[in-house]
Amino acid sequence: EKLKAGLNKTRDNIVSSIDYVFNGFTNIDDEFYEELEETLIMGDLGVRTTDEIIENLKEKVKENAIKQPAECKELLIQLIKEQMDLGPNAYDFENQKSIVLLIGVNGVGKTTSVGKLAGLLKNQNKKVIMAAADTFRAAAIEQLTEWSHRNGCEIIAQSEGSDPAAVIFDSIQAAKARKADVLLCDTAGRLQNKKNLMEELRKIDKVITREYPEAYRENLIVLDATTGQNALSQLREFKDVTDITGIILTKMDGTAKGGIAVAIQSEFGIPVKYVGVGEQIEDLQKFNSEDFVNALFD
Ligand code: GDP
Repeated sequence: EKLKAGLNKTRDNIVSSIDYVFNGFTNIDDEFYEELEETLIMGDLGVRTTDEIIENLKEKVKENAIKQPAECKELLIQLIKEQMDLGPNAYDFENQKSIVLLIGVNGVGKTTSVGKLAGLLKNQNKKVIMAAADTFRAAAIEQLTEWSHRNGCEIIAQSEGSDPAAVIFDSIQAAKARKADVLLCDTAGRLQNKKNLMEELRKIDKVITREYPEAYRENLIVLDATTGQNALSQLREFKDVTDITGIILTKMDGTAKGGIAVAIQSEFGIPVKYVGVGEQIEDLQKFNSEDFVNALFD
């Protein structure tokens, strides 16, 4: 329900204009397809994904000898689901001893997502430790400390400006000593300085490989849905620097650009694992493509 409410703006944007196309045309012709294509692109599904969907739709329409535009709607919904399909969504780190890095540029909601995700996992009876390894942004440590009061999870932090890899080192020792299930790490997001970012992530990587080889690893990139296609370029940039195993798409509640979830999964084949639909602790939801598309078109 929260997901549905969080998608209100996206639904208004995409579905109302799609309905407009389906109801506004009496024939399935080039003009109809062009209009539909434009609508999907405006809905932030991305040019490549949209092209593929339209091509597939044309085929299905031929195959099934469909004549009425309105009859295409169910087909379209099905095709969007297929386009997003990555097989069963994996939440592997929830089921074993794990270390999860949250990465992404400043302001996308990394620290907030660490706090919310820790709370969500704790509700599943996991022992979670949060590592305040964004030592670069002034308020990040303080902010995560506040989150630890809210979610009741332990936080490991050093002073501002300290070495992130040292914070990770400390956190790993704590995670081992306390038999934590999940170690969630906030990181700094200096994409403007790609060389520094790479260095920092490489150093962190080394520490994890050396100190915590038994842990299952994930790198989740946090992307702000309100930035639309910009989020896709951030993903591209970070993919150059490190392995990305999943995505947290934040601020879905404030945007009409939620369609980028389709573009992301379809173009990159990387699963969106969680979506942020508000600023409160309960406002992080597991993502499931099928539910997402259903919530959009419901
Ligand atoms: P960071 O720099 O990436 O660590 O970003 P922060 O965690 O500090 O988040 C930046 C702002 O985005 C804060 O004001 C958060 O409350 C807000 N924020 C994060 N996630 C969401 C979300 O899902 N929905 C909304 N509406 N705001 C969010």
